[in-house]
Amino acid sequence: MLSFVPDVFRCVFHLLWPEVCAGCGCGDEVREGFCANCSRDLLSLAALSYCPRCGATVGLGIRADEDGCYACPSTMPRFAHLVRVSPYAAPLRQTIIWMKYRRRSHVAGHVGKLLAGAVSARCDVASIDLVLAVPMHWLRRLGRGWNQSDALADSVAGRLGLPVGDELIRTRNTPPQVRLPASSRAANVRGAFAVTRPGSLRGAHVLLIDDVLTTGATANEASRTLLAAGAKKVTVAVLAKAEPPTAYEQQVAGSR
Ligand SMILES: [Zn+2]
Ligand SMILES: [Zn+2]
Repeated sequence: MLSFVPDVFRCVFHLLWPEVCAGCGCGDEVREGFCANCSRDLLSLAALSYCPRCGATVGLGIRADEDGCYACPSTMPRFAHLVRVSPYAAPLRQTIIWMKYRRRSHVAGHVGKLLAGAVSARCDVASIDLVLAVPMHWLRRLGRGWNQSDALADSVAGRLGLPVGDELIRTRNTPPQVRLPASSRAANVRGAFAVTRPGSLRGAHVLLIDDVLTTGATANEASRTLLAAGAKKVTVAVLAKAEPPTAYEQQVAGSR
């Protein structure tokens, strides 16, 4: 009976406030968070090949493996692999903005399912010991009310049956990376993270969750901190990789 009550509330809630699409905001037959059009677009983007080191979309027949791709940075990131759902493009771009600024926690559940699927497809889930979110400084978290990456990490960990930790913390309230040129981003986050209880990370394979990866500077610095605290390996999983539309638009158009 007790487990039945929340379902009743959920049904009443959806009757009064029908769920809108997390990609475009329309109310047309939303399934698993997205309307049919956005689901189709998302499937096309999620099917693109990408580099497992830098996350860049790679064209058909172009080599991208554990050693990286032609677009990889000259200095390889400290994390071992990158998993993504899609390039940072519609419909996920709008989803991420809504999740971040309007605190849509139910959306984190929907996209967490997509991210968990991407991790399962690319990684040996049994080798992962712990899921951590890229943390937000407490002052910024106070201002925004939540960290969307925490909600994502909870959703991914729940679906993969993995524990979520809180060992990684942000010790400096750095200016948002989005306001800085790519060349300044690594310096901006250098020394911004710390690990509490490093003993619990010793020898661990950590799955580090964030919403968007642009240059990778934040994920790289967080990975450096985790490895320095004794983690054996870090795999980064993000909803979206920011890259120029030229990297993926032609391929998406060709697949339709
Ligand atoms: Zn939609
Ligand atoms: Zn690459």
